[in-house]
Amino acid sequence: MNERELETMRKSFSTVKNRSSSIKSSPQVVKLQERVKKIKENALKNNEKLVKQAKESFKRNGIEFYDAKTSLDAQNIILDLIKDVDSNIISKSKSNTLGEIKSKEFLKDNGYEVVETDLGDRILQLKKTDNKPVHPTGPASHLNIAEITEIVNDYLDEDVNPVAREIMEVVKKDVLNILKDSKIGISGSNAVASEEGALLFVHNEGNISLVTLMDLHIVVVGIDKFVECLEDAVSIAKLETVYATGNYVTSYMNIVSGPSKTADIEKKLLKNMYGAERVAVIILDNGRSKANQECLQCIGCGNCIVHCPIYNAIGNEFGFNNYLGGRGVAMSKFIEDDEVCYSSGLYMCTLCGLCTLNCPMSIETNEIIEMIRKDSHKKGFYPKIHRKISKNIHNNDSPY
Ligand code: SF4
Repeated sequence: MNERELETMRKSFSTVKNRSSSIKSSPQVVKLQERVKKIKENALKNNEKLVKQAKESFKRNGIEFYDAKTSLDAQNIILDLIKDVDSNIISKSKSNTLGEIKSKEFLKDNGYEVVETDLGDRILQLKKTDNKPVHPTGPASHLNIAEITEIVNDYLDEDVNPVAREIMEVVKKDVLNILKDSKIGISGSNAVASEEGALLFVHNEGNISLVTLMDLHIVVVGIDKFVECLEDAVSIAKLETVYATGNYVTSYMNIVSGPSKTADIEKKLLKNMYGAERVAVIILDNGRSKANQECLQCIGCGNCIVHCPIYNAIGNEFGFNNYLGGRGVAMSKFIEDDEVCYSSGLYMCTLCGLCTLNCPMSIETNEIIEMIRKDSHKKGFYPKIHRKISKNIHNNDSPY
């Protein structure tokens, strides 16, 4: 990221900080935070049971489900699901899990056109290069309006003015036009309610509603997203919204608990009214069952990176893939390996603990990073200068 992008990102982060600071300390949010901590703790403790229960509920509701141990498994399942659909345009909504399995890259390699439906993600998609998001809910927070105008005009061959509404309208028109030919929707899910077999989606733009209306809706979700019931899922989504955006609630919460159906004519059950004819859930492990359990308590609000001194200084270079900042670095060890974890910025962290102080789940990312460093050092992944310093201390009682 260049200095101008970093400056724009820091400004956007300050706006979120200011907006959320008062509501975060309100008694109702503090109460919600305590509730969500218990929900996540309990859900992770009973993870296997909850996934099993969700599968039974999915079956009852007519939702297809598949287990994916790895990213590659998830990719193959997706290809198998879409191979007979008569459309190569895929409507996508924002999802870290889809980023984790590199959904856009592999679908493109297999001849599919993936269209981001979230405005920020679509702008980054049009940017083509250096288009990694900088925040889970504000992916293009580092681009100023002049840069966004140039990107949109270049790609769409338009002549929009640097006016937010004009940009929004022109991107919306283009996306809706492409989606007319799309029959496949792909998304993640904010939380899965096992008792009901229901998937929860949170958004402000209404774009996920469009994705759920495709003939086939594929949902890729990590095993860490399963909770006991719908009330728990909604609580997580509410807390995530407060910490991610500074609002009490998002514009939309969609709950999908089965394919679209109607029985309005003589009680004859018909599928595929307005929404999806098929809903398929891919349950992804990809290192989670062996991951540090505390890491999995994350609700994806992004508040840790907003407050992280390293992230504010260098941006999304600190993190892994769509998992940004220290928590992302930690996750990369379990999703990928020690080498990726090292190159994602394992030694960039100052261990200051500001992430923990600002995390609604109080995840001690700094402590986790320290533990991973100890382990990775034994495996030879550490800055080579450390060896020299250690030698100097040993020989000269001084690091120099
Ligand atoms: S680690 Fe905490 S602050 Fe960071 S994204 Fe996860 S829940 Fe939010």
